[in-house]
Amino acid sequence: RFPVVAVIGRPNVGKSTVVNRLAKRFKDGSIVFDESGVTRDRTYKRAWYCGKDFDVVDTGGLVFDDKGGDVFAKEIRQQALIALEEATAVIMVVDGIVGCNVLDQEIARFLRQQKVPVVLAVNKCESQKYGEIQTAEFWCLGLGEPWPISGLHGDGIYDMMDNVAEHL
Ligand code: GDP
Ligand code: MG
Repeated sequence: RFPVVAVIGRPNVGKSTVVNRLAKRFKDGSIVFDESGVTRDRTYKRAWYCGKDFDVVDTGGLVFDDKGGDVFAKEIRQQALIALEEATAVIMVVDGIVGCNVLDQEIARFLRQQKVPVVLAVNKCESQKYGEIQTAEFWCLGLGEPWPISGLHGDGIYDMMDNVAEHL
């Protein structure tokens, strides 16, 4: 088994886009194995960065429907917990366009209590120029430096991944 990098964050921040970007950019992006039934719909993809193989796991695909905020948060927490059990490192993804919200703070507080290293990725930062402005407010999450990325276009992925790779 390769080290597992769990991608965690509230819905719609771009977790799946980031996972696909990592798998696509660094290898062929094929799904390696799928433990659905055991871990619901978490999807693992093989990825590679700077000579290191790892599996990247998308913790999304969970309820994004009419459930209330509280249940919602609990679902995310549960998924995150399952993923964290086996994770060597975590990428917490937040939305640089929407900005920091209560759910981000809740997830960050939870992650700070864990022992696993967390790299904070501020997604939807298509322009590095605006990236700095977009990332500034995320220092408050207490997860260290927020790295501007664009899962969609690829900006900032290498710098962010340098930090993840340190832990692999
Ligand atoms: P998830 O729910 O966290 O897995 O988020 P998704 O990967 O499904 O993305 C949610 C929405 O954000 C989609 O409409 C994406 O196209 C959009 N999105 C994802 N990454 C980026 C990005 O880097 N920039 C912009 N502008 N939009 C993005
Ligand atoms: Mg998703």
